[in-house]
Amino acid sequence: MTHQLPPLPFAPDDLKPIISDLTIGFHYGKHHQAYVNNLNNLIGGTPYEDAPLQTIIQKAPAGPIFNNAAQVFNHTFYFEQFKSMNEVKKRPENELLRAIEKSFGTYDKFVEAFSKAAATLFGSGWAWVIRDQDGGVAITQETNAGCPLAKKQIPLLTCDVWEHAYYLDYQNKRPDYIKAFWDILDWSVIERRFRI
Ligand code: MN
Repeated sequence: MTHQLPPLPFAPDDLKPIISDLTIGFHYGKHHQAYVNNLNNLIGGTPYEDAPLQTIIQKAPAGPIFNNAAQVFNHTFYFEQFKSMNEVKKRPENELLRAIEKSFGTYDKFVEAFSKAAATLFGSGWAWVIRDQDGGVAITQETNAGCPLAKKQIPLLTCDVWEHAYYLDYQNKRPDYIKAFWDILDWSVIERRFRI
């Protein structure tokens, strides 16, 4: 099986001024593409050659195959949740909102907790929102290529805090990137993920 770079659900300059087309050009065009290429090169002649991406993430031991497979999934999941500021659904509603309120009290407290998790993650990694066993939601931190699928968790939302995600636009100011991130996050995508 050859893994492919999936198309973006937005034009490269649609996320401005939150994320520039320059960042998208490197992050999607170079980094995400490189994870796809590396994965295809690494799995040839291994038991993972014909496996779906999710199976590779759940079965591969720590190492290059896991890292590249997880990074392919993580980046696809990250880019899928964005749209231009004018097009996004700005707030969750209905069951997802109720799940957030059950776990965090209010939407604003949830935003605060997730932003803190993303800001305080040491080094490179990902902040995640996952659906927990009881139908509620929880926030997790994963370093490097860490991926909820590897723990059989159901991911709902993610923020990439590798420096390549924000350095061209925000330099060292990771908290500014995380604050702006909410303006391009399309809650209709997160609601769809929650319903599945
Ligand atoms: Mn990245």
